[in-house]
Amino acid sequence: MGKDHQKIWNSCLEVIKDNVPSISYRTWFEPIIPVKLENNVLTIQVPSPFFYEYLEEQYLDILKKTLRKEIGTEAKLEYSVVIENNSFSQTKPYTVKFPARTKSQLKNKPVSFPMESEGTSIKNPFIIPGIKKLHVDPHLNPDYTFTNFVEGDCNRLARSAGYAVGTNPGGTAFNPFLIYGDSGLGKTHLAQAIGIQVKETRPEKTVLYVTANKFQTQFVESVRNNNKNDFLHFYQMIDVLIIDDVHEFAGKEKTQDTFFHIFNHLHQTGKQLILTSDKAPVELQGLEQRLLSRFKWGLSADLQSPDYETRASILRQKIYNDGIEMDDHVLEYIATHISTNVRELEGALISLLAQSTLNRKEITIDLAREMIDKLVKNSYHEISIDYIQKVVCDYYNIPLDLIQTKTRKREIVQARQIAMFFSKSLTKSSLATIGSKIGGKDHATVLHACKTVNNLIDTDKRFRLQIGDLEKKLKI
Ligand code: ADP
Ligand code: MG
Repeated sequence: MGKDHQKIWNSCLEVIKDNVPSISYRTWFEPIIPVKLENNVLTIQVPSPFFYEYLEEQYLDILKKTLRKEIGTEAKLEYSVVIENNSFSQTKPYTVKFPARTKSQLKNKPVSFPMESEGTSIKNPFIIPGIKKLHVDPHLNPDYTFTNFVEGDCNRLARSAGYAVGTNPGGTAFNPFLIYGDSGLGKTHLAQAIGIQVKETRPEKTVLYVTANKFQTQFVESVRNNNKNDFLHFYQMIDVLIIDDVHEFAGKEKTQDTFFHIFNHLHQTGKQLILTSDKAPVELQGLEQRLLSRFKWGLSADLQSPDYETRASILRQKIYNDGIEMDDHVLEYIATHISTNVRELEGALISLLAQSTLNRKEITIDLAREMIDKLVKNSYHEISIDYIQKVVCDYYNIPLDLIQTKTRKREIVQARQIAMFFSKSLTKSSLATIGSKIGGKDHATVLHACKTVNNLIDTDKRFRLQIGDLEKKLKI
């Protein structure tokens, strides 16, 4: 049968070597790895998208001639660009500098891959009808779908805006779409759901999910390896870019600068950006103003702590999905006692299951109580002022942001005072810190709040019970 791909490629190389300057040969041909030969199609692996473009632009003729000579007139060339772990670089280490194109050339001829075919493969527009396969693994977790994302008051806006973005990426006013909220409230899940939605409805789109940390590491590596251009090109070619936890960019100026350029490029070309962060854009510290102002171009939507009903639905859904049987009372018990965030809710469910399987015990209220008691002990030290404010607001059913305003409405003032009181007794923060975090007050106000609450505890029985209730909730 026919020759193998290595032989064919070696024969091509012999001819090429005689026809291109040796420096070019070393730069552009030596790093190529022949992968396979099937039905007259030779597949070669190139280290980067840029590499592929350059070859097509500069060496198409000679590639075509040599291939036809070796394989026949039916010869086709296919490129495989290995993009490992989101990375733009090749698996094998190589060092190639890209002196070939100057900036102005790049400007005149924007580096872009014409997208027209199905899936992730892209038709090669050049004479040899090869196909360049761009393996961009979107890095999406298939469980993080919209179907699995339980709707509640705490996430309604973010969820429905996200859904709109997922069905029409780049085509809504929500660009960028920024999801913010505390840890464990579903930012990653929702951002990924959008990606999955895009993949389902618009499979031709290149979607990529990446954490801000990973982006940063890749960037630093690209600088070290002298292939920052590849890094840029790779990211500028994505249709739907999801960057998780952008607050991690704080203080990393060079990364921010590069992200700024990628952001602009994508935004200008109608591509969709989805970002998540632990704070609203106005409160993000350590991020450049020009970046923050761009974050505000689109829509910022927040995720709040789930209320009891939503917590119970989330648990119900997880139990259903996993095919677990659990008594409603147990479920309600967990939903009542774990009120901080969804991750802890899931954690509680998982440890309960583990306990019951390992010890061959039935899942009962007692087992749940035992387990939650343990969790409580473990997480006790984690009480923060933010958490206290949340629990207090949840308890009195008032929106969390109201406590931060200057309002003098009685119930808000009281909730604020209670939050200050617990911050004083349950955290190690100073009066000044507590004040600045709760409504921007000074230390005297906090001191006064503590006195007022203590007085009420002594004189008002209902109030005392409420404080007792709250204390229990806080110590969960
Ligand atoms: P974050 O990124 O905000 O820290 P995650 O997206 O990682 O939070 O969510 C933590 C866990 O809670 C995940 O397993 C996620 O699936 C689950 N979760 C969060 N919100 C919901 C929701 N509304 N419905 C179902 N599961 C949720
Ligand atoms: Mg997350």
